[in-house]
Amino acid sequence: MSELLNRKTISIERTAGFPQVRMRRLRRTATLRHMVRETNLQPHNFIYPLFVTHGHNVRIPIEPMPGQFQVSINHLLDEVAEAESLGIPAVLLFGVPSKKDPTGSEAYDTNGIIQEAAAAIKQAMPDMVVITDVCLCEYTDHGHCGVLTDEGLVDNDSTLDLLARTAVSQAQAGADIVAPSAMMDGQIAALRSALDGAGLTDVPVMAYASKFASAFYGPFRIAAESTPKSGDRKAYQMDNANSREALRELEQDALEGADFLMVKPALAYLDILAKARERFDLPIAAYNVSGEYSMLKAAAANGWIDLDAAMMEMLTSIKRAGADLIITYFAKDAAKLLRAGG
Ligand SMILES: [Zn+2]
Repeated sequence: MSELLNRKTISIERTAGFPQVRMRRLRRTATLRHMVRETNLQPHNFIYPLFVTHGHNVRIPIEPMPGQFQVSINHLLDEVAEAESLGIPAVLLFGVPSKKDPTGSEAYDTNGIIQEAAAAIKQAMPDMVVITDVCLCEYTDHGHCGVLTDEGLVDNDSTLDLLARTAVSQAQAGADIVAPSAMMDGQIAALRSALDGAGLTDVPVMAYASKFASAFYGPFRIAAESTPKSGDRKAYQMDNANSREALRELEQDALEGADFLMVKPALAYLDILAKARERFDLPIAAYNVSGEYSMLKAAAANGWIDLDAAMMEMLTSIKRAGADLIITYFAKDAAKLLRAGG
């Protein structure tokens, strides 16, 4: 028995290979480390989310998200131009409407804020990819992502028609990609068929396929003024404890015709992202959400963390886990660092 154990120990040592194998050899200099780096962030990996509101010369700081603003279209164009100059290929637009009502009608109004913003960007910067969020929560007076039944529940099937109308009106205004985020069953199929029916067969759908009910959305809800007036979104967004269910959601959206799959949030869900990467060949996006941004900004403001280093480490982890594209409020900051060789 003891001889057996001994033999096992010896073979493990041989397999391990030390002292011939020394992992530190390839970490010795910055150049060597760069040569063997497996994951490299690029500005074209980023999608920059922006909050657009009515009016002129409006630029309201979003308190829990330092560096982010609600902007009117004239300032939006400045933001988008800066993003373009940094090599960021796409922006994701969220609208703050002039009025809210039970059915979120500004979401699918031809003169809605998103429709106007998409048209303005495409006119000024035709190469910039404009992605529009398709949901009702910013536009409903109750703050839920769909229309409510008499009992106050979110009605899946009657919401689908409004989401489809929203997507078609955004695409007709100039949106290059529509991104449904309401977590209604059948929303990808509903959008695809409505887009195709309107002759918009070339407009891809980026599906918020596995979107979890998350505390990390808190700062966004302040930014987009979309906190539900009552209850929460757990009856349609996913339980954060579930991984197999996330894969079913991703698969369902792929089957319904999604062109991109998204995992949201990113940081607390890197395992989902890694599994999604293994299972699906579609481009995968991850949403580095507001709470993930605010945490770093708050810690940095207190002098508790090196913001640039932590930001790059966070973004690299999301790409390493499997994301092709990262939707992030850090897009401009990270692109600037990358351009500077950081
Ligand atoms: Zn929503």
